[in-house]
Amino acid sequence: MRLSKYFLPVLRETPKEAEIVSHRLMLRAGMIRQEAAGIYAWLPLGLRVLQKVSTIVREEMDRAGAVELLMPTLQLADLWRESGRYDAYGPEMLRIKDRHERELLYGPTNEEMITEIFRATVRSYRDLPKILYHIQWKFRDEQRPRFGVMRGREFLMKDAYSFDIDEAAARLSYNRMFVSYLRIFGRMGLKAIPMRAETGPIGGDLSHEFIVLAETGESGVFCNSDVLDLPIPGVDVDYDGDLKPIIEQWTTLYAATEDVHDAARFEAETPPEKRINTRGIEVGQVFYFGDKYTKPMKAPITGPDGVERPAQCGSYGVGVSRLVGALIEACHDDAGIIWPESVAPFKVGIANLKVGDGPTDTACAQIYAALEKAGVDVLYDDTDERPGGKFARLDLIGLPYQVIVGPKGLAEGKVELKVRATGARENLPVTDVIARFIE
Ligand code: ATP
Ligand code: MG
Repeated sequence: MRLSKYFLPVLRETPKEAEIVSHRLMLRAGMIRQEAAGIYAWLPLGLRVLQKVSTIVREEMDRAGAVELLMPTLQLADLWRESGRYDAYGPEMLRIKDRHERELLYGPTNEEMITEIFRATVRSYRDLPKILYHIQWKFRDEQRPRFGVMRGREFLMKDAYSFDIDEAAARLSYNRMFVSYLRIFGRMGLKAIPMRAETGPIGGDLSHEFIVLAETGESGVFCNSDVLDLPIPGVDVDYDGDLKPIIEQWTTLYAATEDVHDAARFEAETPPEKRINTRGIEVGQVFYFGDKYTKPMKAPITGPDGVERPAQCGSYGVGVSRLVGALIEACHDDAGIIWPESVAPFKVGIANLKVGDGPTDTACAQIYAALEKAGVDVLYDDTDERPGGKFARLDLIGLPYQVIVGPKGLAEGKVELKVRATGARENLPVTDVIARFIE
């Protein structure tokens, strides 16, 4: 992409309304624009990151055996009356009427709808297990939308739903999702810790919130610092095999949100120097709730014994749009964002320090064309802004690599390669810099 043809409305001033660094940087880097409280337009640079995050989530869901579909944003109120949640949900639910006075709502979540889809066709244990998911916009009329996309009213969520014949089978589905979450956040370069979380009226130990530690997070958390060093399951993890050792490894050390925190247990299990008590951002949650929806909504499954029983279910959310903010909270410095490569909007930025200078234009064009051809995401700053402005903008938008091309370096046959994260700089011939990204 040539910057002269792109749409990247960066802001010079720090927006006053933004309280936390990720919100400030997303506005300054021209990633989002607020259209109403908690409702954002995703501008091109922000959209690229949102799509990269979605792609990682999708790949890992698919790998774990979940199947993608797409449910609508609008749902019938009557469906929610079947589960009893229409009245229970309260003012966070956006309720709408169509021209025929039919009551609709903008979905805050999809347990009812997926149960309706499931019960329409699945009747036998032979068709189980099933994990279905979608990546879709949600609306929750939050009392205090804030921190930009971290607590929006309209936000993008991946939500998966598992259906099983009994609790033991449901636990296997839960474990699959748990492991896939470790991989999802790990691939983004995030340390997201699964923490015991409130299970609500159902009880049991089957809910974990995946939390990224950050002072600006909204949840209070307690954990053993060793949990930060646990290994992420590899790409070859066998989802049909025994996942229990991985779950045990990740749930043995103390890690809990403040809602379920047990101070005595924390102190008994955790040496003083390893006790972390801080705040965190909830980027995902996995939850087993049995027949909470399949029972009232009548979604029975016939077991091998010929007896009908409600399917046993779980739901599994990832805050896709919140993750974009959480990633910036975790990866930035004073100059701006530092994207992990896996989610960067572009991998490489080329800065042409003297547009109009023959050799400089030629070298830039050569690098740009080679990278484009190789399928490397590259943003070429071919604008006539002064070099200082170009450096600041590239640092702000946080692309992992910068290739800086100017007449001075080219006189010695070199261009500069800068690594955004470390600030490391190297002078290389044009062909070598291209080779770095293509090999
Ligand atoms: P929170 O406690 O932060 O309000 P939640 O527990 O109500 O979130 P879930 O129903 O578990 O949210 O939704 C799944 C995921 O969706 C959450 O883990 C979070 O990452 C994301 N999410 C929830 N609410 C919002 C929001 N208002 N804005 C952005 N992301 C959200
Ligand atoms: Mg939650």
